[in-house]
Amino acid sequence: MLAPGSTIGIVGGGQLGRMLAMAAARLGFETVVLDPDAQAPAFQVAKEAIIAAYDDKKAIAELAEKSDVITYEFENVPVSALQLVPETTPVHPNTRALEISQDRFMEKSFVRDLGVDTAPFWDCPSPEVLQNALGEAVGRGILKTRRFGYDGKGQIRLSSDDSKSFEAAARLASESPSILEGFVDFEREISVIATRGTDGSIVTYDPSHNVHREGILRTSTVPAGIAPDIARKAISVAERMLASLDYVGTMGIEFFLMPDSTLLVNEFAPRVHNSGHWTEAACMVSQFENHIRAIAGQPLGNTERHSDCCMENLIGNDMDSVPGLLGEPNIHLHLYGKHEVRPGRKMGHVTRITPKTA
Ligand code: AMP
Repeated sequence: MLAPGSTIGIVGGGQLGRMLAMAAARLGFETVVLDPDAQAPAFQVAKEAIIAAYDDKKAIAELAEKSDVITYEFENVPVSALQLVPETTPVHPNTRALEISQDRFMEKSFVRDLGVDTAPFWDCPSPEVLQNALGEAVGRGILKTRRFGYDGKGQIRLSSDDSKSFEAAARLASESPSILEGFVDFEREISVIATRGTDGSIVTYDPSHNVHREGILRTSTVPAGIAPDIARKAISVAERMLASLDYVGTMGIEFFLMPDSTLLVNEFAPRVHNSGHWTEAACMVSQFENHIRAIAGQPLGNTERHSDCCMENLIGNDMDSVPGLLGEPNIHLHLYGKHEVRPGRKMGHVTRITPKTA
């Protein structure tokens, strides 16, 4: 177990890295953050910044040398870079989880091999295969690049009666390896945040109901308005996923809840997750703190929720609402310290708290 005063290395200095560094500081740890952007938000709250590319060998060696444990805040960190870290510095979560989450085909295959449902999916190495897959998907699907897609990027919705969408999808598939997913008419989207410790113990948070707009998460509401047995099932899927990956740290797992109550896993993120930001306002111990506790080999904290809540992302010009928000009672505001407002950019979030009902 790492003692207070130890140093945690974080690859990636975005808002997630920043919130991890803040949680680490509260537990008495120091942090060193690696990010290529000199303006990275996490640098404002870390002890030390290493400004370099994620796959810069010298920078990774420096990070490893300065850190007692290394973690990362986003799933597109090159696996090969983390494999350069000498064995004397543990990396959590492990690179297997990272590798699987980086490739949608591997990710969905992993979930399916656990016996858990996903939307139907097909690897689409050519337009011909795409055409056949679309037929099998009964004419409606979403083409997703296998790698580097996030917040709805690298995706095209297509239907067999819209030839333009097919052409665009075929073009994308020829540029980047992609999968076709059958379009599923889900009832709602939920997610589970779970943390696994070095001793194999797992803690989970209540599922949240997530609403996306233009592929970006807008709100996460808890309780999620789902039957207790569905919540239990989602949590048990999450537990199985973490255990089977021998995972250490916090993970976010996104599900589609179907009208017949079936749960489909959409994807998982081997890191703290936007749909778990509410935990800092409505739980005893947040997803960030539990991630730090886990990678430090400490006992995990209490995930109990003391309030109902709704977390809303502040995206782009939503920042204009901050002065008004500051006057609202029962809110927990968290801004990321980003200097430039851009459309679609996550600038902060606000969690509104109400008394616990369920
Ligand atoms: P993803 O990047 O896979 O999380 O997809 C972004 C959003 O697109 C999801 O949160 C859903 O709202 C929607 N979506 C993704 N896959 C499907 C699907 N197979 N069927 C229907 N909607 C989907």
